[in-house]
Amino acid sequence: MNLSDQLHETARHYPEKIAYIFQGQQTTYQELEKAVSQFACQLHALGCKGDHIALILGNSPHFIIGLYGALRIGAVVIPINPQYTPNEIAYMVRNGDVKLLVTMDILLEKVENIANQLADVHHVIYCESKSGLNFDHLNISSKLKSFTDMMKTPVNPFEWPKLHDEDVALILYTSGTTGKPKGAMLTHKNLYSNAKDTADYLQISGSDRVIAALPMFHVFCLTVSLNAPLMNGGTVLVMPKFSPQESFRLARQYKATIFAGVPTMYNYLLQSGKGSKADLASIRLCISGGAAMPVSLLKNFEKTFDVIISEGYGLSEASPVTCFNPLDRPRKPGSIGTNIVHVENKVVDELGEEVPCGEVGELVVKGPNVMKGYYKMPEETASTIIDGWLHTGDMARMDDEGYFYIVDRKKDMIIVGGYNVYPREVEEVLFSHPQVAEAAVIGVPDPDSGEAVAAFVVSNDATLTVEELQNYCTGHLAKYKVPTRIEFLKEIPKNTTGKILRRSLRDTIGV
Ligand code: AMP
Repeated sequence: MNLSDQLHETARHYPEKIAYIFQGQQTTYQELEKAVSQFACQLHALGCKGDHIALILGNSPHFIIGLYGALRIGAVVIPINPQYTPNEIAYMVRNGDVKLLVTMDILLEKVENIANQLADVHHVIYCESKSGLNFDHLNISSKLKSFTDMMKTPVNPFEWPKLHDEDVALILYTSGTTGKPKGAMLTHKNLYSNAKDTADYLQISGSDRVIAALPMFHVFCLTVSLNAPLMNGGTVLVMPKFSPQESFRLARQYKATIFAGVPTMYNYLLQSGKGSKADLASIRLCISGGAAMPVSLLKNFEKTFDVIISEGYGLSEASPVTCFNPLDRPRKPGSIGTNIVHVENKVVDELGEEVPCGEVGELVVKGPNVMKGYYKMPEETASTIIDGWLHTGDMARMDDEGYFYIVDRKKDMIIVGGYNVYPREVEEVLFSHPQVAEAAVIGVPDPDSGEAVAAFVVSNDATLTVEELQNYCTGHLAKYKVPTRIEFLKEIPKNTTGKILRRSLRDTIGV
């Protein structure tokens, strides 16, 4: 099975059920299937079978139709964050051998900026969001095609190509905050199995209404908020741009049952003061992933809104989900939970040997969700997937009940006078201080100890001092872990999936 055939099946079983709601408009499975078929036929008529197609789109029906339509003709989809700079986009388009782009009309100026690098791109399909725009002056004008026209123009049906499990379906440029992004190749089997296994584990069913607040170009949203509900006949509540007010409104109006977000979103929802328990009364499950969920935030959120948060873990290379806190056994705050079905996680030492329970090592993963490799990077692939185990680059430990705890990223570890300090541990303590809204920690060079801990804090209380925070940390942490430097910021720089941009933090203090 694959996602495209599954959509066809779901539409056959539940033609009248609502597949998604976007800006108040409801689309049934039958209508979605028809749109996907139409778009697929148009792509086929353009001769794009098997091509690499980039989607540079925000959360919208265009994204859903574009994704499923492209998969149906056996094309490889490359989702790209529309907020990327023209140069970042150009890199992915060239490295990913893209032949066709699907984007928004309002982003065409950005695409025009890299017109000279688009020699191999034959078509640029634009989705209308504004009327009265004129593109005749653009160098790319001869490549342009209107999405609306394509959806209206009659086209001959074609025989769908057979999609094979091991064929690449998606190339995801990973959000690596340093260096050039690498394209993780996910196959049809990777995508299908992970959506299905996650849905089974979290009991996502046809009666769920899932708020898609995360960006769809990120695999967390793609698998958990889009593919998992769509394969089961659930309803996706498409949110073009996350905001606390809109989240509460959607939840209340459409009686949403699942909200999936990164910890920053939960923090915004909590701090915004815009919502109440009543708004989230229909929510049966909040899902957190993408970055560490501070325990104090989790507890505060659950108490304030009377909901449960299940934290999970994943990475692009694993399609992405590998672990989640279970629904039928205790959840453990601070833990990413246990293996989801069909996926194995273990903690290993430098030699790849499993370490005893409670000891810290690198988390490695095996299962049908593990990527085929990095696109055109055989050496990186060979050093990342060893004997079938995907090396995540995250340090973790497992307790004696099989629950995993992410300690931190391997490369973010700070070494203070020979002792290892993981930023997360210090961030958790800072976060638990009542006047701290956000915290991030990095290592900075230190003449005596090699490295020292520096912290960045966002506080809602202007009277909070560095000294008070240091005293607070001294009460909770070994001396060498206490930040020697603390800076107050208006906000912590993060990427769209809530990951702290530690490089930017370094830049702010010039280290
Ligand atoms: P991406 O490939 O963009 O999905 O990023 C994957 C990375 O996000 C992982 O390697 C982790 O470093 C981080 N991550 C995801 N989920 C969690 C979590 N629950 N706790 C801590 N880090 C996480």
